[in-house]
Amino acid sequence: MTDNSKTVLLVEDNEDNRIVYSTILQHFGYRVMEALNGEEGIAKARAEKPDLILMDISIPIIDGWEATQVLKRDPDTRHIPIIALTAHALASDREKAMEVGCDSYLAKPCEPKAVVSEVQKFLGKRDGR
Ligand code: MN
Repeated sequence: MTDNSKTVLLVEDNEDNRIVYSTILQHFGYRVMEALNGEEGIAKARAEKPDLILMDISIPIIDGWEATQVLKRDPDTRHIPIIALTAHALASDREKAMEVGCDSYLAKPCEPKAVVSEVQKFLGKRDGR
């Protein structure tokens, strides 16, 4: 089962959120890698080529908007789907998410199950592959 597991890179500075999202994603069969800020997120995305990135927008050093832009401009990483996690359900955030190249967008606070179902839209369910 681990052989065909998809890898999700979770870029999130809040420890509670990291634990919650990481735990439920693993429960649903995904491998999870974590990064605590935008710089680390970019580095891990380049080094590990995850199947999908969950990108908190409010993160230290390089924010999620900029980190997404960097990865979407890089031919080596632009194919990786990025789901943005933003603190506000503002229309302007949704527009910005699309502008910088996010593939999808979730407003926080976001139920763990909503995160999983959004990830499944891109990666499929563990048993369905
Ligand atoms: Mn944050």
